[in-house]
Amino acid sequence: MSTAWLEKTHSPLLDKAYEVALKAHEGERRMNGDPYIVHPLAVAEAVQSWGLDEDSVAAALLHDVVEDSSITIEDIRKEFGDEIAFLVQGLTKLQNIAIPKNQDAENLRKFIIAFSEDLRVLIIKLADRLHNMRTLQFLPEERQKPFALETAEIYAPLAYRLGMQKLSGELEDLAFPYIHPEEYRWLVHEVKDTYEERQEYVRKVLPLIEKTLASHHIKPIAIDARAKRYFSLYKKLLRHNMNLNEIHDLVALRIIVKTVEECYAVLGVIHAMWPPMTGRFKDYIARPKPNGYRSLHTTVFCIDNKILEVQIKTKEMHDENELGIAAHWAYEQVKSSNKTRSGWKGVKNKKELMWVQQLQNWQKKFASQEEFLNAVKVDFFKDRIFVFTPHNDVIDLPAGSTPVDFAYRIHSQIGDSCVGARVNGKITPLDYELKSGDVVEIVTQKGKKPTEGWLRFVKTSEARKKVKSAINENERKLIGKAAPKAVEFKVVNADRPGFLKDITEIFANSKINITFLTSETDHRSAFSTVILRCPTLPQGKLETLVVKLKKISGSKEVSYKFLR
Ligand code: MN
Repeated sequence: MSTAWLEKTHSPLLDKAYEVALKAHEGERRMNGDPYIVHPLAVAEAVQSWGLDEDSVAAALLHDVVEDSSITIEDIRKEFGDEIAFLVQGLTKLQNIAIPKNQDAENLRKFIIAFSEDLRVLIIKLADRLHNMRTLQFLPEERQKPFALETAEIYAPLAYRLGMQKLSGELEDLAFPYIHPEEYRWLVHEVKDTYEERQEYVRKVLPLIEKTLASHHIKPIAIDARAKRYFSLYKKLLRHNMNLNEIHDLVALRIIVKTVEECYAVLGVIHAMWPPMTGRFKDYIARPKPNGYRSLHTTVFCIDNKILEVQIKTKEMHDENELGIAAHWAYEQVKSSNKTRSGWKGVKNKKELMWVQQLQNWQKKFASQEEFLNAVKVDFFKDRIFVFTPHNDVIDLPAGSTPVDFAYRIHSQIGDSCVGARVNGKITPLDYELKSGDVVEIVTQKGKKPTEGWLRFVKTSEARKKVKSAINENERKLIGKAAPKAVEFKVVNADRPGFLKDITEIFANSKINITFLTSETDHRSAFSTVILRCPTLPQGKLETLVVKLKKISGSKEVSYKFLR
């Protein structure tokens, strides 16, 4: 087993976590016969290489401890503190939830994000998945394909969404041979020569580019030939009738420079060397991809008129493209260790603060990318729960929601006629507080109506609104009357110039539409009677109107009645 990296870190915290894990997994073996500790070590090493904080690395070492030994979360809290206990607990929860079957992939991804609570939990989980995929050949055959499928459909897209492209691609490539074994063999065989040929060609082009860039005083940090990953190549081939000749980025040239200005300068040089293919230039620096990917892409007709794709980016972009959200941690940590590290200690909610900053950073980048934000948001807004319908659809509700909130979310009729609920198969009161993962079934009865009491416990505003309106309607029905549709005022006033305007102004100032108005003057008494209608109003507003109308000079009588 490799503990070399652990020895190199010289961290008493990690050494302690390692000792605890070693003891907890003592005598336990992996499917391939390795001592179990190899697994948490590999997971921790990956987490560390992505630049996550020490707490996360320790949690990675301990991630299977609660599951596999008599050690409890409380033990971990005593030994390692709240932060690490919180992360380990998240990982244990994630391990233990029974993911309902027949879920669509998007629902499952949401579900996993919701359960992770903290993005670090999710990232450690991804490292766990990565190591399990690397050792998948030792799993019994009937479990390999489902595991690989779950990886390709759930975890790889999650990694991609977090901007961790390298991990996402690696997870997919590890899953590929288990999901489509024949296609995989065909592709590897088919592509092998072409790959080598293309790599050879790019290597030939390389010195030429270096020389030309040097003459423009540009010295790239690195130039390399990047081969397209198998699974993404396979997916692309499916869109191009399996014709390899149509794939221009089979091997792409990657140029990494120091600044954004240099990126565009390099682009100019390349376009001056070889004519660009029209419609193939993509500026992902000005307009990053939804997951944050930034780079310049162009395709040129290179030496011997061969097509070559070139990607140009800075080192920072490159790291971010490969590591995604994890890269932000790495940068944050460097920054904070330089100057504000000690400042952190004084901050009570260090974790919260970091998350807020993280969220702000990401929000700046993704403000327009609703889909991505929504995926990340659930993590930050921990006050959400995810429950299931009997058909396994995920329903997303605020924490504290009850079966009534659930029922109204499904349909207002189900809410109105709900009389009981079964949660995870058990009859439950309507004010029961739902928890993430609950399967909720609503019992309805025709003709049943909501009661006032529901208003004491419903959580969502939509349920509250619907309960109220159902109660009102019910009351109206009980007194056998239809809801008033309009109010008719009768105003008797001294017939003087401008009095009609005084009346209508009162309505206008209160923003009430007058839908009907007549006036008749009795010339003998010199009083006018005005009949005026408007849409129905709350009692309070009505009274205020009456008071105002009575204040008009020459007022004799003001009255109103409801029209139904
Ligand atoms: Mn594990």
